[in-house]
Amino acid sequence: MTSRQRPVPVFDGHNDTLLRRVIAKGTDRETSFFERSTQGHVDLPRAREGGFAGGLFAMFVPSNIHQDFSKPFNPNDPKNYAELAQPEALGFTMKMAAEAYRLERASEGQVKICRNVADIRHCIDKGILAISLHIEGAEAIDTDFEALEVLHGAGLRSLGPVWSRKNAFATGVPMAFPSSPDIGPGLTDAGKALVRACNDLGILVDLSHLNEKGFWDVANTSHHPLVASHSNAHALCASARNLTDRQLDAIRDSGGLVGLNFHVGFLREDGGYSRQTPIDVLIGHLAHLVDMLGEDGVALGSDFDGCMTPNDLADAAALPKLVDAMATSGFGPELIEKICFRNWLRALERTQM
Ligand code: ZN
Repeated sequence: MTSRQRPVPVFDGHNDTLLRRVIAKGTDRETSFFERSTQGHVDLPRAREGGFAGGLFAMFVPSNIHQDFSKPFNPNDPKNYAELAQPEALGFTMKMAAEAYRLERASEGQVKICRNVADIRHCIDKGILAISLHIEGAEAIDTDFEALEVLHGAGLRSLGPVWSRKNAFATGVPMAFPSSPDIGPGLTDAGKALVRACNDLGILVDLSHLNEKGFWDVANTSHHPLVASHSNAHALCASARNLTDRQLDAIRDSGGLVGLNFHVGFLREDGGYSRQTPIDVLIGHLAHLVDMLGEDGVALGSDFDGCMTPNDLADAAALPKLVDAMATSGFGPELIEKICFRNWLRALERTQM
């Protein structure tokens, strides 16, 4: 293997860095984005070190926003899946959007909120961290789509109709294992209208967290490539959060993509939450996804700052280890670049206006 001057740039499909920063404010977990920290997975120094060039920065509103966030997320607590009221969700979304804008302003040119793919390419060339604003779970969006218009004006370029709970638009999948993703009803009429509104605005519709009926409803409603920003292969890890081969076929036929999620519970054959998960397990999912989707349909969607990653992929600075593992497993340099950033840029280009 050759040593690299600069790590391969990664444009990543999903992180929860804005949420982590918002809920750490005023606590002893609050850190500067511009200094290297051991909290969470992403800050600017670690991003630069690992080649993390930017990505879709999620604005996710947790159920029960008044919970004690110093405690680890409990996937079995029903309170964590309670429905949210729209005004409350919009208020909390503002905090995350404001955090992105504050980071951009404080960065003195080192961080940029990108509105199109040309912005992202410019950032990758210049070593500026590229933020593309994303909504994970559309509780903040009213059914007249007024908040959608305003947030689009503020830079929103992708949106997942649901997180793993029910809302006005659709029903999400629980983190069940082992389980089929075919749980619950599909999109509501408002959900189908949301997909059309996103198509019209050039906002990418994200399939991750949707149940299977909702997936097929998006497939039949949207005229954009189908994209799951942070999901894995159900054939290798039977989590309800992962995609069956039939779903992967539909994504391939649409010219879409899947971003590999680094969460151990969505990677491991036993579905276990163990950091002792070798990087080879991620390579196994990537190989299956390349098999099913082709070289243009596979990307990364780390879930940094929102998941339990393997020990060997402890934060954004560790990304070159994944790139090296791809190379050792026989992924050529062209395929590696496609997975690391080119496929995301192509998918966004085909979606945006
Ligand atoms: Zn997620």
